[in-house]
Amino acid sequence: MSRSAKEPEARENLQSVEPDHDVIVIGAGIAGLTAASELSSRGYRVKVLEARERVGGRVWSADFQGQTVDLGAQWLEGTLGNPLVDLCERFGVEHVLWRGEVALADGEGIPLGSDEVESVEGLVEDTLDATRRLAWDTSSDEDLSLADAFVQCLPSGLSDRDRQLACWRLDVDIGSDEAEDLDKISLRCFWDEDVDDTFGGESRVFPSGFGQLAAGLAEGLDVELETQVTEVAYRRHDAVVVTNRGSHCARRVLVTLPIGVLKGGSVRFVPPLPESKLDAIRSLGVGVMNKVFLAFDEPFWPETVEFFGLAAQESELFVEVSSLLPSTGKPILIVWSHGERARAVEALADDVVTTRALATVERLFSKQPPPPKGVLISRWGRDPHALGSYSHMPVGTTFSAVEILGEPVDDTLFFAGEATETAHMATVHGAHLSGLRGSDELAESLGQASSSTRESRDDQNGVGSP
Ligand SMILES: Cc1cc2nc3c(=O)[nH]c(=O)nc-3n(C[C@H](O)[C@H](O)[C@H](O)COP(=O)(O)OP(=O)(O)OC[C@H]3O[C@@H](n4cnc5c(N)ncnc54)[C@H](O)[C@@H]3O)c2cc1C
Repeated sequence: MSRSAKEPEARENLQSVEPDHDVIVIGAGIAGLTAASELSSRGYRVKVLEARERVGGRVWSADFQGQTVDLGAQWLEGTLGNPLVDLCERFGVEHVLWRGEVALADGEGIPLGSDEVESVEGLVEDTLDATRRLAWDTSSDEDLSLADAFVQCLPSGLSDRDRQLACWRLDVDIGSDEAEDLDKISLRCFWDEDVDDTFGGESRVFPSGFGQLAAGLAEGLDVELETQVTEVAYRRHDAVVVTNRGSHCARRVLVTLPIGVLKGGSVRFVPPLPESKLDAIRSLGVGVMNKVFLAFDEPFWPETVEFFGLAAQESELFVEVSSLLPSTGKPILIVWSHGERARAVEALADDVVTTRALATVERLFSKQPPPPKGVLISRWGRDPHALGSYSHMPVGTTFSAVEILGEPVDDTLFFAGEATETAHMATVHGAHLSGLRGSDELAESLGQASSSTRESRDDQNGVGSP
């Protein structure tokens, strides 16, 4: 049933309307599409409501100067045991090895020799190991930031240069992973022994875009695009979902709204979500990571290198540059920022961002780059349907917040999405796994309901469900 948003209060509908759908899924990102696809294949009547004009959410592949590029997720992180590898096979999606060849330069753009690179990498590794011991040994409940712990664990007597290079390298490596500055990241959670968050094996990239996976999952599903959910009214085993284009009734709802959108509060829940879930939403963090794509006619940088790091000075907006040349054959650079730098970039006009990105490229390669033939800039923090790039664990949080975020409410509202997946949060495979978990929970709940509410409805309506 679809009805005008101007019709009576959603809550009143709960009294009188027979649901057309077993499940409404809010959000057509990887979590929502995975769950919808699973539930549909089990025979449930599922509708997906998506605010954007496209599926995929934070997986967003777009054409840029004749090359597909990923403005959101880019790497399939680890092939061993990663369920996305099977999905790629199922949908015939090509992925290629990301070798991860790295070249580093100091703050003046002077390349680091291989000995110095090795010594900086070794220093970072040893110091990180020491932060793990600090996290595990600590007898107090007090949490520290990863940045503070790192500085505390650096060996004494280091030169200023080594100290600066080590801190910068840590920020590039782990700050990018967290999409946040490391003074906000919880040491305790970073080293939580119970959370195994990596698949082994290679990193892979998609020459024709990560978005192919979203398109494959969406195939054959009932997805309503440009449909922004504004309210979810629910009582046990009934819900009305109100959108900018009318409302829909369902027996269950799967909420896959990004953590940034949940924090923003633009979707009203009636009755309000339990206080424990609201606390979890408040306590989880959402970081910002952005990319500036620069397309050139010809490469003017070392052609086999995938990552270039420039030890960022305080005033630098960007911390690293990657090249799509090895994986696509196209002379495209991506200039990256995360955390407060990324937020600062979002506040600037496109031409200023381009000028600043080109200045970083110039410093990195010690030569003035030619004018780019195309520029593409992401702004995930200001995207109203994301309000951030992905979740992280701020200082003082515990993983129980992630578990609580994923818990169902009144056996009617179910929750999935990257931020609900303790072991794999902030990733596409985490979103996919959360969708699988959500679909299992929903199937179990709907199965349980079959002996009571559903059978009596089916008797009345002649409607069959699995
Ligand atoms: C810049 C960037 C780089 C990344 N890099 C990687 C990477 O290399 N590898 C990796 O594994 N992961 C990466 N990630 C993380 C990964 O993209 C996400 O973890 C994952 O895609 C999240 O999927 P999701 O389904 O949980 O959420 P989303 O994809 O955000 O899906 C939620 C959906 O809900 C929709 N929505 C929002 N509000 C409403 C509303 N009111 N009504 C209806 N619909 C609504 C949104 O439009 C969206 O489509 C990256 C993310 C970003 C932003």
